[in-house]
Amino acid sequence: MKVVKFGGSSLASGEQLKKVLNIVVSDSDRKVVVVSAPGKRYSEDIKVTDLLISLAERKLSGGDIEELFESVIKRYASIASELDISNDIIDRISSDLRDLLDGDQQKPERFLDALKASGEDNNAKLIASYFQHQGVKAVYVNPKEAGLFVSNEPGNAQVLPESYDNLYKLREREEIIIFPGFFGYTLDNDILTFSRSGSDITGSILANGLKADLYENFTDVDAVYSVNPTIVSNPKEIQELTYREMRELSYAGFSVFHDEALIPAYRAGIPVNIKNTNNPSAPGTRVVNVRENTNGPVIGIASDKGFCSIYISKYLMNREIGFGRRLLQIFEEFNVSYEHIPSGIDDITIIMRQNQMDKEVEKTIIERISEDLQADEVKVEHNLSLIMVVGEGMRHNVGTTARASKALAHAGVNIEMINQGSSEVSMMFGIKEIQEKRAVQALYEEFFVGVMV
Ligand code: ASP
Repeated sequence: MKVVKFGGSSLASGEQLKKVLNIVVSDSDRKVVVVSAPGKRYSEDIKVTDLLISLAERKLSGGDIEELFESVIKRYASIASELDISNDIIDRISSDLRDLLDGDQQKPERFLDALKASGEDNNAKLIASYFQHQGVKAVYVNPKEAGLFVSNEPGNAQVLPESYDNLYKLREREEIIIFPGFFGYTLDNDILTFSRSGSDITGSILANGLKADLYENFTDVDAVYSVNPTIVSNPKEIQELTYREMRELSYAGFSVFHDEALIPAYRAGIPVNIKNTNNPSAPGTRVVNVRENTNGPVIGIASDKGFCSIYISKYLMNREIGFGRRLLQIFEEFNVSYEHIPSGIDDITIIMRQNQMDKEVEKTIIERISEDLQADEVKVEHNLSLIMVVGEGMRHNVGTTARASKALAHAGVNIEMINQGSSEVSMMFGIKEIQEKRAVQALYEEFFVGVMV
C-alpha cells in the first residue's frame, strides 16, 4: 500500500488535477492521497494559503474581507469549472469558510491556524468530489475523524503519538482516501497547523500510521538535485540518498521536502520517493535507510543564509566546570535555539538563525554572557551563510575536507568557521553571505564536475 502526497503546484488548476487523478488510478496500491492547498499556477501567482493568511489578518484587524474572501473562493471555483464539477461543492466550501470567519476570534493564533488549514481541507473536499465525478471510489476524510491529534503549538504543531494507532484503522476503508495535509486537532478540539509546507509532514505521518510500503511525494521537479539549480545550472540529479543525507540537505535550503517530514517515515523504515506530477514516469529520488555508495564522497551541497555567530573567549575556559551549561542557559532563557557550536580550548562559537533575536535581545544576551560568565571577549558576526557538504561516503574517503577547503581557497572564499567531525555525514562551512554563490559553485565544480555519479 502506498501513501501519495501532492504539493500545491500539482493541485493549482483543473489541468493539474487531471494529471493527479491519472497518477492515482494508474497504480492500485495508491490508496491514500494527501493534498496541499492550491499553490501557484505561475510565478507571480499567490498560493491559497497566503491568501488565507491575509484574509485572517484582515478579519482580525476589523477590515473589509469581501475581496479576499472572493479571491479564495474563485481559486476553487475556477478549478471546479475547468473540471466540470457541479457548483454544489463550491457552495459548500464557501459556506464552510464563512462559518470559520464568523467563528471564535478570542485566540487569534488559533483563528489564523484554522483559516490556514481550510486551504487544504477545502481542497481535499473538492478533489474527492472530482474523483467521485470521474467514477473513482474516493472519500474525503477529515483529520479529526481519523484521529490525527497534535500538540498545542499554533503554527508549529507536533503529532501526538497516539495518532499512529488511530490512523492504522484507515486501512479498513475500501475507497481511496483523500486526506487534507498540513493540520491536525488538539485534544481540546482546536485546529492547529504544522509549520509552513507541512503537508509533507501529514503524508509521512499517514505512511507511518498505516504502515505503508512506500511514501510517494509528488512535486514539480524530476528529482532532488545535488545543488540548488538557481546557483548551478543543470546540476546532477540524485537517484538515491539516505534519510540522514536528506535531513542534512533539507535543513540547509533544499526546499523540495520538509525537514520535519522525514522523521515519521524514518522511524517506520518507510522509503520515500520524490516524484514529478508533470513527468510521473521519471524515477525521481528515493530516500532510504541504506544506499549503495555509488557516488564519490559527496551527494549534495546545500546552503542557507540568515545566520549569525556569537564568539566567546575566556582564558582557561576548558577547565571551568559548568561554563557550557551556563552559557546555553542564557540562550534558553531568551528562547533562542542554536545550530552549531564549534569550539576550541579557550573559545566557543554559537551559531544560530539571526531572525530569532532582535537588536534588543541580542544586546541583552551579549551583556549577560560578558557579565555572568566573566568572558574575556564576546563578538557577534551577522550575515553569515552556512554551506553543508553532505554524503555518507565522506566517512570512508580520505581528504574530503582538504579538497573542499582548497576549492574554497581557489575561489577566494574566506572560511569563517568549519564544523566537521560530529556529524558523520556532513561538513559545515560558515562564510559571509555575499560569498555564498561563489562558494557553492566552487564546491560543486570540485565534487561533481567530471565525476560519474
Ligand atoms: N499550504 C501550506 C503552505 O503553503 C502547506 C503545504 O503546502 O504543504 O505552507
